[in-house]
Amino acid sequence: MILGDVIERNAQCYADHPAVLFEGRSITHAEFYRRVKKLVNALAALGHRSQDRLAVLSRNCPEYLEVYGAASLGGFVGLGLNYRLSAKEQAGILVDAQPAVFFFEQEYAERAQELRQHLPGNVDFVCLDGAVAGALDYETLVAGGSEGALAFRAKEDDTVLLIYTSGTTGVPKGVMLGNEGQFEQARTQALSHAAAQTDRMLIVMPFYHIGGPTELLSYLVAGATIVLHRTFDAATILQSIQALRVTSAHLAPTMITMMLEVQEKTPYDLSSLHTVCYASAPMSVALSIRARAVFGPIFMQIYGMTEAGLGTTLLKHQHILEGTPAQTKRLASAGQAYLGTDLKILADDGSECAASEVGEVCMRSISVMQGYWQKPEATADAVKSGYLHTGDMGYLDEENFLFIVDRKKDMIISGGENIYSREVEEALLMHAAVSEVAVIGAPDEKWGESVAAIVVLRPGKQATADELSEHCRTLIAAYKRPKIVQFVEIMPRIPSTNKIDKRALRAPFWAGQGRQVS
Ligand code: ATP
Ligand code: MG
Repeated sequence: MILGDVIERNAQCYADHPAVLFEGRSITHAEFYRRVKKLVNALAALGHRSQDRLAVLSRNCPEYLEVYGAASLGGFVGLGLNYRLSAKEQAGILVDAQPAVFFFEQEYAERAQELRQHLPGNVDFVCLDGAVAGALDYETLVAGGSEGALAFRAKEDDTVLLIYTSGTTGVPKGVMLGNEGQFEQARTQALSHAAAQTDRMLIVMPFYHIGGPTELLSYLVAGATIVLHRTFDAATILQSIQALRVTSAHLAPTMITMMLEVQEKTPYDLSSLHTVCYASAPMSVALSIRARAVFGPIFMQIYGMTEAGLGTTLLKHQHILEGTPAQTKRLASAGQAYLGTDLKILADDGSECAASEVGEVCMRSISVMQGYWQKPEATADAVKSGYLHTGDMGYLDEENFLFIVDRKKDMIISGGENIYSREVEEALLMHAAVSEVAVIGAPDEKWGESVAAIVVLRPGKQATADELSEHCRTLIAAYKRPKIVQFVEIMPRIPSTNKIDKRALRAPFWAGQGRQVS
């Protein structure tokens, strides 16, 4: 099966059921399929061919979804551009990916004009929401598309999405995801998340990030309705859940934190909400407990990455055994492998680790990327004997629950001991005055590296470096306690995902050390 089959099937089985709710608009499954099909035929009539890249520079909107739909049905490749990147960074991606069509929203018309100079003259520019000089009008384009048979139909081994990684550890890499793999991924996630046709799934994760399309597809597989949001604002999202009786949502941990702060002060009626999935970064145990107290036991944690086509493991709310000693332990876990995912923890010498032994998380499944776009060496480094080497360090417990301890690149080696930054962060976050923390390695003449903690305090709260170090005394071993504590007002973040930018935090410590830190 291909992803496009889902759109077609939904039109046959749930024709009048809403596929998308967006800013007061409601688009049925039948209408969505009709428009996607016309778009495929319109693009074919313009001369575009199978596996041409369709770049999109836009906030989330139904038209964006239609472009991805056309990719999945017609065999094109959807390429969402991160709108938060600079013109230079976007140009880098475009030159790398060589799109045939560039879709943009009016909001980015000037930027589109700037980017045009980096692309060949035969690239079609299409404005998604109105008339812009030098660009085709999207509605006119779709209206002109034939309603007859599809000009092209995607094949299972076609690339359907070209998604660039978040750039947390380096320059973002283009990840090629296959059509069949993404279909299987969506089907597996739908099953594991118990997605139902009656669900209303709120999507605010941007479409250029893997978390947007994949989670959305899991619910489209079930014929559900997608409640789509352009941008994130905590109160607006809570209001939308209340007003539209949203049942499920996919959010990033930082979004949950912001919603928590609003909900604690002004409670909205969230009684319809039964599932909140989060991915892309861990949620600390302290935050999980706070969030569960306010929203209830409705959280599902996904551990995944762009290269895996998203979900590798899932921690369901049913896994958290309320009121038992195992509860806190499980909250720190990323869950168990999805059905169809083969998980292995490998030591440096390639041997498989025993239970509880930390090594690199490696995985194999049909949804693993086809490779990095035009980077065969990087692909060969990442995928060995069919297993994706994730760059994350972790261990499996006796019941096959996965615990992510750190990214390989964030691990601190002090006096020959491995220190996982996440363990130190978890300890510091248990202090009542700490709002956010990032633990990094700083140069140390004697030990090679020493532990440095960058801390944001909660509004109105005080704490000294000595107090925080003392607080860790009973929680972690002495050599893991932070030697340096720096207080900052705000954390530097990766624009695409809001993840803390540890490279930026490390840079001033390592400047002039003559040693490369990534
Ligand atoms: P880049 O690969 O460009 O450095 P990135 O790895 O942040 O960026 P993504 O593919 O968006 O790009 O993110 C995947 C990574 O996010 C995982 O490898 C892991 O480190 C982290 N991650 C995702 N989900 C979780 C989770 N539930 N718990 C802990 N870490 C997670
Ligand atoms: Mg990565």
